[in-house]
Amino acid sequence: MTTEKVQVIAIDGPSGAGKSSAAKKIAEALSWDYLDTGAMYRATALALMRAGVGLEDEAALFKVLGSMRLEQLGTRIFLNDEDVSEAIRSHEITQFVTPVSADGRVREVLVEQQRIIGQRGGFVVDGRDIGTVVFPDAALKIYLTASVEARAQRRFLEQQAKGIDMALDAVAADIQRRDHADSTRAVAPLRKAEDAVELDSSNLTLDQVVAKIVGMWRQLQG
Ligand code: C5P
Repeated sequence: MTTEKVQVIAIDGPSGAGKSSAAKKIAEALSWDYLDTGAMYRATALALMRAGVGLEDEAALFKVLGSMRLEQLGTRIFLNDEDVSEAIRSHEITQFVTPVSADGRVREVLVEQQRIIGQRGGFVVDGRDIGTVVFPDAALKIYLTASVEARAQRRFLEQQAKGIDMALDAVAADIQRRDHADSTRAVAPLRKAEDAVELDSSNLTLDQVVAKIVGMWRQLQG
């Protein structure tokens, strides 16, 4: 049986490989939309943190999951109509999102929303499980990697530009912590889909990564 491909470019890979920067530019180049699934996990972590709800209280967890409304407009993310694009990037949320995103109950709710949003097609979607779980029938799957050193260096410069003072060693340690947690968790661990194209961005500029992926998409169209 042949399955119908969905018009989605799935970009998975470890933290700091440049997935979201590339995804935004690819969406622009193709006049498509961009869906940042990491931001959805982050906004969920923020909603739980604000409500003072942990993962152990199932009734309270479902109440928060059932009442929160997530929306992405362009590259901004809204939680119940509030723009939380900056709030979800804090160090606290970056820590708390790891257990939140490893929770099967949270993933079930968010994966369903991601499928509803993306299934109409014309979406570049980035995350950890897009090609493996969310859109196994994505028309193009990319597994974007880079060395820990390259990823840490980029994140370090990004944070400096934002005025966030964090030592390069600490940035690298945080990246390694997230790599380990994301790839060893029981539910939807980070891994390359069998039919994904692996792209190492360590020695590529953002524009080169974008050009390669857009080129692959155009080639697929014949
Ligand atoms: O991509 P970003 O770093 O913003 O994602 C935040 C966290 O959400 C990641 O550290 C990862 O643990 C989790 N995540 C996930 N599945 C996705 C996207 C993100 O588990 N599809």
